[in-house]
Amino acid sequence: MKDTTPNPSWKPRTRAIHAGTRRSQYGEVSEALFLTQGFVYDSAEAAEARFIEAGPDEYIYARYGNPTVRMFEDRIAALEGAEDAFATASGMAAVNAALTAMLKAGDHVVAARALFGSCLYILEEILPRYGVEVTFVDGTDLDAWRAAVRPGTKAVFFESISNPVLEVIDIAAVADIAHAAGAAVIVDNVFATPVFQDTIGLGADVVIYSATKHIDGQGRCLGGVVLGTRDFIRKTIEPYAKHTGGAMSPFNAWVLLKSLETVDLRCRAQAATALRIAQALDGHAALARVIFPGLSSHPQHALAMRQMEQGGTVIALEVKGGQAAAFAVLNALKLITISNNLGDAKSIITHPATTTHQRLTEDQRAALGITPGTLRLSVGLEDADDLIADLHAALAAAPGAA
Ligand SMILES: *Cc1c(COP(=O)(O)O)cnc(C)c1O
Repeated sequence: MKDTTPNPSWKPRTRAIHAGTRRSQYGEVSEALFLTQGFVYDSAEAAEARFIEAGPDEYIYARYGNPTVRMFEDRIAALEGAEDAFATASGMAAVNAALTAMLKAGDHVVAARALFGSCLYILEEILPRYGVEVTFVDGTDLDAWRAAVRPGTKAVFFESISNPVLEVIDIAAVADIAHAAGAAVIVDNVFATPVFQDTIGLGADVVIYSATKHIDGQGRCLGGVVLGTRDFIRKTIEPYAKHTGGAMSPFNAWVLLKSLETVDLRCRAQAATALRIAQALDGHAALARVIFPGLSSHPQHALAMRQMEQGGTVIALEVKGGQAAAFAVLNALKLITISNNLGDAKSIITHPATTTHQRLTEDQRAALGITPGTLRLSVGLEDADDLIADLHAALAAAPGAA
């Protein structure tokens, strides 16, 4: 197989289309799907040699690696500007691998409180069982990070933009605080996408994606990826991930590899529509707030625009009149679907208090800024005018509209 190593001068959009390609002897244009668990050896000696040390394009078993998965890893690493990547079965397998592979009993971690529910479960419930101490802070409060990080803090963990109320964390400032204490910076970068932000350039050591979101972007398969230095990926993540079974399926890798060809176009189009919708809804009589990092009314708009090229593809809306009003709006939408994924080509809306964040107490939800009237809108690829018309018609059903 021929390895087409990316030219270092290629821009991210070019890398997202060509990086990592491995062509078989047939010279196929579209990447091959190697739907195989195992690989054959020419001789007993060749098998022995590969188990002693597999070369960069030599495979043993798909739980350890697979050529299609490897193409996805190389392509996303090139797009992100990371030395290497390890692909996993889901975003949570990536978060779990990154944290568990690097931590041991006695270590300390500082994490932002506003986290995806399953990430919070790992940090709050699982890691402490194995003797890892975790301190939670308000991720937007730099003094809180300063007070929590100490010598012996092994890592800090946060989402660059939090779910669902879109708080923006100052990556460079948190990285300075963490690095001064010798801690690694791990960023769950789903909301900023691989398109809008140079997360490693801002100071992250490890970047994680749920590829289920914008990378697939078409609602088909689960996937995840951990990105970082070659040393960290191959010496810390790979041994943990390959022995604990969180490998990405070659079929999903093939879907996601093709998705990377369009992720830049899709995210930019979705973000442009999100900005138009946020502007169109800002000040609507039925809404107490429209939260979108790309709006100048967002409390961290300046930081968001310094860190990211665009405001992202997700908008939080606070409907006046609490849950009943929020439900009335959801049920009146005709185009936008009620579901809980995000980053999809189809616009999707969620009521976090009764779905994704249902298990939290009211106080915990309040601490995260989630009220009974909060809706999270993931903007898709439909025509912006159609989406705005659907939202306007549905908001007219809300009690505050009159
Ligand atoms: C969805 C999501 C995850 C988990 O990803 P899965 O692919 O569903 O396992 C982790 N972090 C964030 C921020 C997410 O949005």
